[in-house]
Formats: sequence, C-alpha cells, structure tokens
Amino acid sequence: MANDTPAPVIVWFRRDLRIADNSALTEAAESGAPVIPLYIHDEQLDGRPLGAASRWWLDKSLRALAADLKDRGAPLVLRSGDAESVLRSVIEETGAQTVYMNRLFEPAAWERDAEIAQGLKADGVTCRGFNGTMLARPGSVRTGQDAPYKVFTPFLKALLQVVEEPAPRDGPRTLDGIEGLKTEPVDDWSLHPTRPDWSEDFDWTPGEAAAREALSRFLAGPLKAYGDGRDVPGKDGTSRLSPHLHFGEISPWRAVHAARQAAEDGRVPAKQAEKFVSEIGWREFSTHLLHQFPYMAERAFRPEFDSMVWRDDAEGLEAWKRGMTGYPIVDAGMRQLWATGWMHNRVRMIVASFLIKDLLIDWREGEAWFWDTLVDADMGNNIQNWQWVAGSGADAAPYFRIFNPVTQGEKFDGDGRYVRRWIPELAGLSDRWIHAPWTAPKEVLAAAGIRLGRDYPAPIVDHAMARQRALDALEDVKSAR
Ligand code: FAD
Repeated sequence: MANDTPAPVIVWFRRDLRIADNSALTEAAESGAPVIPLYIHDEQLDGRPLGAASRWWLDKSLRALAADLKDRGAPLVLRSGDAESVLRSVIEETGAQTVYMNRLFEPAAWERDAEIAQGLKADGVTCRGFNGTMLARPGSVRTGQDAPYKVFTPFLKALLQVVEEPAPRDGPRTLDGIEGLKTEPVDDWSLHPTRPDWSEDFDWTPGEAAAREALSRFLAGPLKAYGDGRDVPGKDGTSRLSPHLHFGEISPWRAVHAARQAAEDGRVPAKQAEKFVSEIGWREFSTHLLHQFPYMAERAFRPEFDSMVWRDDAEGLEAWKRGMTGYPIVDAGMRQLWATGWMHNRVRMIVASFLIKDLLIDWREGEAWFWDTLVDADMGNNIQNWQWVAGSGADAAPYFRIFNPVTQGEKFDGDGRYVRRWIPELAGLSDRWIHAPWTAPKEVLAAAGIRLGRDYPAPIVDHAMARQRALDALEDVKSAR
C-alpha cells in the first residue's frame, strides 16, 4: 500500500534565527510536508571559528528560537559537527528529500553550501536556497558595464532600485513537526563563557522578540534625530540592531519598511528615515563586496596597500585592546567593547584609526580583536570597515585622513559623558581637560585625584609624531605603485 505522507523537509537554520520573514521556513511549511528545523553547530560556518562574544549571543538566540519553534509544534533539532555529515545523518534518519535554507554570502560559506548542494543532489536530495539576510542578493547589483560597484553612493542608488523589499510577513503560526529526533542540549556546546564569565555587563536580550522591541524603541525615539544623534557616543542615538541583523533575528527589509512607514505616517522626518536606510545600505555594500572580492578578507582591497610595512608592537596592541593607550576616547571605546560586546560606530572609526595610523599596526590585528569581542561581529561589515579606515578598501577614507583622537573626542563627546562613563578614573576632570589629561596643569590633575602614569596612563605615543610617521609610510605605499 502506498504511503501518502510526504517525506519530511529540513529547514537548515544558520543566520536567520527567526520565524517571521523567513522565506526558507515559510516555503517549507507551505510545502505541506512535516518540517524538521535543524541548527548545526559547525565551527567553520563562516569559514573561521566564531568569536567569543558571538558564541555568547548564539547561545541565547538559539534558546529563543527553540522556544518559538516548540510553541508552533516543531522542536528545533540541535546537532554539532561537520555540516554535510550532520545533514546526511538527519536525512538518513528521517527520509527527508529536501533541504530549505537561507543563503549565506560569505565566500567560504557560499562555496561550502554549493558543494553540499551538489553532493546531496547526486543522492536525490534537493537543496532550495532563499535570500533571508540581504535587501538584494549579492551579485545582483551591477553597474551599466555589468561590474560590481566599488563606490558606495552609486551602489546605494542602484540597490534601492533593484531591491524587492517585500512587505514583512508573519511566519507560520503552526508547524507540522516530528517528535523524537535526537537533539543535543545547547548547554553541551559551552557557548556561554565560564571561568571567568566576562559577560556580566552584556546588557542584551538576543532573539526575535527582542529584535522587534529594539526596532520599536528606535522608531519611537532615536530615529527622529538619527542623522546627528548617531554620531554622539554618549547618547542612545542609534538602533543597536546590528547583532540582531547579523544573526538574522530580524530581516533588513522589516527594518527598512518600518522606518519608511514611520516617515510616511509623519512620526519621523523622511530625511532621518532615509539616513537610516543608507546605513543599512552600508551593510549591503560590505557583504556584496566581500562576496564578489573574496580576497579582501585576507588582503588589501586595493593591492598597492599590500606593500605597507606594519610595525610589530605587541605592547601597543595590548594597550589598545585593554583601553590603556592614554587617549581617553580610544580607551573608552575599547573598554565599552570589552564590557558590553559593542562599540559606538563613531568610536569604532576612532579606535581603528588609532591602531592603524597612530600605532601603525596591521588592520588585520584589529579586525581579529573585533571579531572575537563584538556581539555583532560580521565578516562583511568588519572587513570592509577596517579596510575603509586603513584607506585600502573600496571607496575608503583617503589614506591621509588621520583622526586626531583629542579633537574627535572634543567634537563628538564635548560634554565628556562617554569618557566619564567608561573611564571613571577621569570622571573628576572638567570638560576642558577630559580628552587630553596630560595637558592639564598639575594642580588640576591633583584636584581630580589623578596621578598620570599610575591612575591612568600617559599617552603611549605622541600623536603629532605618529601622524607624520603614518603619512611617510603611506606615501611610500603610494609611490610603490
Ligand atoms: P545604526 O546606526 O542603528 O545602523 C543600523 C544598521 O546599519 C546597523 O545595525 C548595521 O547593520 C548597519 N550599519 C551601520 N553602519 C554601518 C557601517 N559603517 N558599515 C556596515 N553596516 C553598517 N558592524 C557590524 O554589524 N559588524 C561588524 O563587525 C562591524 N565592524 C566594524 C568595524 C569598524 C572598524 C567600524 C568603523 C565599523 C564596524 N561596523 C560593524 C559598522 C558599525 O559600527 C555598526 O554596524 C554599528 O555601530 C552598529 O550599531 P547600530 O546597530 O546601533 O547602528
């Protein structure tokens, strides 16, 4: 007798840890077959091991997703190991004939997925890929000459023309799941740090519900003055959606749609909403570039910068990581990063410029530290932005633009609120001295209870000297072309 129950289908979750706007999940549910939601803990998902802060986030995000899927009737199956081997065992155990997944566009993941799809096809299993992470599929935004864009403004214009921006859709309310499949407890993966648990000040709630709340909070407040507010690190002026977007707890088109809707309803000025859309555009630009120029993960996007001679300065690197450079805005940023797993964008630019140009340390060292410590660590965004600051990237800051950490602090943290929050030992200094404590008269330092070199470091490098050193080194690169 023929068995007319359709073979189950697998939904392979990766960086799309949500129910709503999840094309792979929705299509699988609509196929009418029983659905097996699967997450594979594969250390090489991105082609490089997850950073520690990302592991922290993943731990909570998976628990939230598992609860949401369970409520709908399909328990999340958690397995660890090499992705293809795990997929093959689940297929063998269940007789599944289709794997639904939202594509990953990072080069190693892209290649691995293609290999898996080919291997499974040979055995009669179909892989169906969807776009669940980007406004437009990387590779689909091309110039008139059918080449990738290397300059942001025309890229954004073209992106906004091709982008489909589907209306946000609630995901399936119920799923026809399968009980009894073997699953590993997420605790076994030791994603949350212990001995020591450095995450005590991580003030985040991962998961889809929290992502939606973050978006609502942003629309109701910071978006109204986003254009200027986003540059002030002492203010809550941005969305803080980056880790939610990275892990796919919210779709970028939901964020864009909501911002534009708020403008249409007159709740926020249209100009502010469009500024936010253009920042989401930078996220697209970064991943599109990395997808089309995979070499930029390791090497300078602009090859002439490969001849740059970097300094080997273990002590300087350590001082930078620990927030002990003696430049308050730099140290505040690095301490915010360590304490919370996130750093304000303006300060990310300042600390990156300091590492690359004041210390002449290879941008890859900074990229690696950010990769390990950011909850929003994202290959496209991180690599593109580091190369942007270094001057070696596409549409990068000109190489001779070297941030002055004192004037940057004075301009964007004029009331010293950000520095005082992250460097309490300087809290007693007035606004006049807070960004350059070494210039303060002795009696001012004494009155604020600061002994430079003991309570807070003297600058580890003289900015004027370092600036000239960087310009000389960069001039050599330019003339070596
Ligand atoms: P908002 O201002 O609310 O912006 C909304 C969204 O737009 C962000 O969530 C993000 O997805 C995107 N976005 C904003 N600015 C940028 C940008 N410059 N480049 C790409 N996308 C952007 N962002 C990451 O998500 N992951 C990283 O690993 C990362 N590394 C960075 C490294 C350096 C050296 C620098 C200078 C920037 C880096 N950024 C990275 C970009 C940016 O700093 C963060 O996306 C932003 O600070 C996140 O905060 P938010 O969500 O409140 O941003």
